[in-house]
Amino acid sequence: MEPNRDAPLLLFLGDVLRLRKPHPCGGFEWTVVRLGADIGLTCNQCGRRVLLPRREVQRRMRLFVSRGAGYAAAQRLVAEQDAVGGDGGGPADGSGAGDPGVVSRELTVPESNGV
Ligand SMILES: [Zn+2]
Repeated sequence: MEPNRDAPLLLFLGDVLRLRKPHPCGGFEWTVVRLGADIGLTCNQCGRRVLLPRREVQRRMRLFVSRGAGYAAAQRLVAEQDAVGGDGGGPADGSGAGDPGVVSRELTVPESNGV
């Protein structure tokens, strides 16, 4: 499957990007510090902060150097949704649906012992 060029670029706080053109300071790598209509980027070399329209970031960006924590969380969410398949989802852990029989047996034992 080809990457969709028209799809909005998914950016997350903490993502580190490499842009096509270097910052005047010589740095190529930028960290995403703000999300919105404009993307806040901090130059990893000189620490200067800039705001670029999302489309501009998408055009200038070459690759992700690393992804932020938000990306990992989103990937996990997608994976979970895929696994469940839109079905309400089962119980997280067996909370003892089959246990009542054990409980009643434990209750009867002391009685028979006492008598
Ligand atoms: Zn810089």
